[in-house]
Amino acid sequence: MMSSASSAEQLRDRLRSRGLRWTPQRRTLLVVLEAAQGHVTGAELVERCRAIDPATTPSTVYRTLDVLEDLGIVQHGHGADGREEFHVRPEQEHGHLHCAACGGTWEIDEREATTIVNSFREERGFEVDLSHVTVVGLCRECSSAGNQQPGSSA
Ligand SMILES: [Zn+2]
Ligand SMILES: [Zn+2]
Ligand SMILES: [Zn+2]
Repeated sequence: MMSSASSAEQLRDRLRSRGLRWTPQRRTLLVVLEAAQGHVTGAELVERCRAIDPATTPSTVYRTLDVLEDLGIVQHGHGADGREEFHVRPEQEHGHLHCAACGGTWEIDEREATTIVNSFREERGFEVDLSHVTVVGLCRECSSAGNQQPGSSA
């Protein structure tokens, strides 16, 4: 976690080494990230930062997120609509299942993804980036409730 003073200092030094000044806006973003849970979109992060510091600009937030991702502190994937979603200090790489009917999301762990990852590697020499795997469909509850397959209606 990022709660100790020393890790905040470390982070400040690492941001500086990437050419980013340690500004109140960046500190605010770190406070917001520390409180975030699960998946949070860039727009939500901007909104939460602005609730603390109305002067926060989206460009500062996104640029800082880029560097934090390089440093391994956040990682982004994509929601069903393609929006970037951020994880704070992801414990392990994972993809996502997204139910088109109820909007639920679940994580696909590395073990579950082994078959698909290995198959693309062997068949195509393609290395799958699991954090960018988002599979849209119907969860068990929704499919047994007789919902239509996604795409079969519209
Ligand atoms: Zn991406
Ligand atoms: Zn569902
Ligand atoms: Zn996730």
